[in-house]
Amino acid sequence: MNKLQMFSRFCFDIIYPNRCPCCDEFLPWNEYICSKCREKVLIDTNELCGKCGKRKEDCICGAVLKYDEAVAISYYENEAKNALISMKNSSNKNFGIFAGEVLGNIINKKPEWKSCDGIVPVPMNRWNKILRGYNQAKVIANAISDVTGIPVMDDCLIKRFGYKSQHSLNAVDREKNTESFQPMGRDLEGMKLIICDDIITTGNTLNRCAELLKMCGVEKVYAAVAATVRRKREE
Ligand SMILES: [Zn+2]
Ligand SMILES: [Zn+2]
Repeated sequence: MNKLQMFSRFCFDIIYPNRCPCCDEFLPWNEYICSKCREKVLIDTNELCGKCGKRKEDCICGAVLKYDEAVAISYYENEAKNALISMKNSSNKNFGIFAGEVLGNIINKKPEWKSCDGIVPVPMNRWNKILRGYNQAKVIANAISDVTGIPVMDDCLIKRFGYKSQHSLNAVDREKNTESFQPMGRDLEGMKLIICDDIITTGNTLNRCAELLKMCGVEKVYAAVAATVRRKREE
């Protein structure tokens, strides 16, 4: 965050006091999550498969993966789930900024990722963006960029108007729905990119975006995600 963004955050806090996106407790203006929720949501990334970004028990690498590696910082459950829903519904972007900063610190320790040319937020269609006012994947991408210095490139992919959000669809429809992403014609020959999204469920969205980027000449695609969905354990 630059000084101007910090200042506007400080002023905004006077009118709408800052709250933890997970538990709704009040927070100082310059914090994004309370310490209790931070401890609850952050996972040990060693529990995840480094290639697909799912929990090792839920690994989807058997299917053809188009991205090369993935990382997430939380499971899409409890506090993290509340926070990601509130980022969509009530404009509390704190969790996106928090997740982006944690992801950025992880990326800084991975030389392959750190040398990437850009961060590509998974696009939203224009109508949804107008309704929400922002793309939550871009909030995360901007925060990663602040920590790593890798620029955000949101002119690589577009999501065509009229398609539904992935989370509202069943597995078959999700697959078809991913057809709605398209490249924007930018020359990406030889680049290494990080795609960024809020949630990984089946991996279809990230896979489709990675596939399109590779069709444009991208060499490696890494995926940075705020939360990964874990399959329910059979009790
Ligand atoms: Zn909290
Ligand atoms: Zn895997």
